[in-house]
Amino acid sequence: MLKTSLLNRARRRSKYCSAGCNTIATLHHISQICWKTHGIRIKRHDTLVNSLAHNLSEVGWFVEKMPKISTAERIRKPDLVLKRSNVSAIVNVQVLWESIPLDECHARLVAYYSDSREVVEYSTFKSCKPSITTLTV
Ligand SMILES: [Zn+2]
Repeated sequence: MLKTSLLNRARRRSKYCSAGCNTIATLHHISQICWKTHGIRIKRHDTLVNSLAHNLSEVGWFVEKMPKISTAERIRKPDLVLKRSNVSAIVNVQVLWESIPLDECHARLVAYYSDSREVVEYSTFKSCKPSITTLTV
């Protein structure tokens, strides 16, 4: 009896996240939520941002990485502010779980930055308002 109980508990436990999150260790949890993989997710995001910044600067864009823009509510840090000729853009990189609609996430981030007068003023270049976009993967 005791042996069966221990075995059942072990089987049940194996479904749970090994980081002690007290939740089922789904692929979604492990790849998008768990604290144990947080550092890896940040590194993956930053690798994409750095690669994008490098490649854009190679083709003539002035690239500012993660500027801290003070707003009435909080400091906002878009991943990239790009300027060239009479064009400017705010670019944010998102690495998302596949079940999340990409259009919704894109629209949410565009609203987040475009609703802030301070962010738009900061990113305006030669009186051209910035395009706000995301690299959503
Ligand atoms: Zn976890």
